[in-house]
Amino acid sequence: MAQSNSTAVDRAAELLRRARHVVALTGAGLSVESGIPPFRGPGGLWTKYGEPPMNGYQRFLADPATAWREQLSPSGPIRELWEVLTTARPNPGHYAFAQLEDAGILRCLITQNVDNLHRAAGSRVVAEIHGNYTLARCVQCVRRFPLDQISLADLPPRCPDCAGILKSDTVSFGEPIPPDVLSQCFEAVEGCDCMLVAGTSATVYPAAQFPLDVRQRGGELIEVNLYETELTAYCAVSLRGPSTSVLPELVGRVIQSS
Ligand SMILES: [Zn+2]
Repeated sequence: MAQSNSTAVDRAAELLRRARHVVALTGAGLSVESGIPPFRGPGGLWTKYGEPPMNGYQRFLADPATAWREQLSPSGPIRELWEVLTTARPNPGHYAFAQLEDAGILRCLITQNVDNLHRAAGSRVVAEIHGNYTLARCVQCVRRFPLDQISLADLPPRCPDCAGILKSDTVSFGEPIPPDVLSQCFEAVEGCDCMLVAGTSATVYPAAQFPLDVRQRGGELIEVNLYETELTAYCAVSLRGPSTSVLPELVGRVIQSS
């Protein structure tokens, strides 16, 4: 608790102001504060319903029409998640990131969340490593389309551009991270001299590698999390607390004094 005080926030704000290329990395902790359950851990969907099959992508490719039918009338954990996702709203943590981008400080936001809440809050340069549940993506040309704008009369739906099969943009188990998003992440991380990590313990690849890469090249890490994580030891400043209160305070401090 000791670090979530005014001095630590000042120090983090100073690092963000001095940095040339700030990148953010966010995860489930931010979504949880908008009422979206995590997948694992206490209250997690997989904790409650059991782990899903790990070959979701292979199953999709083998029978995309059935996969689409299941997606359109979901049951169990996916139904529970879908109902929460469609009503969830951005929280003050999401708005703080959008404000940091508007202020010209945040260059890119990498998120592991699929809930679209960063975009809903106004963030523009967003790399969604695990996709976005409001979009469909062509498995052939990687173009994305809003789900509510594609025809589902015939399943699987086809790409209007190349007639490839469309899939939910949400990355399935066994599916590679879309190459365009991965390049966007690598490019952002390569130029990054200060990374703000919020609501994630960053233990899952590829997200786990990004803060370590930044640190290895001499960049600084700032962490906002309820708990100590495996990253804490590498962080210049570690702010303990909910991102809904810590992030607005931090961003307020950055903007106020720049
Ligand atoms: Zn296509």
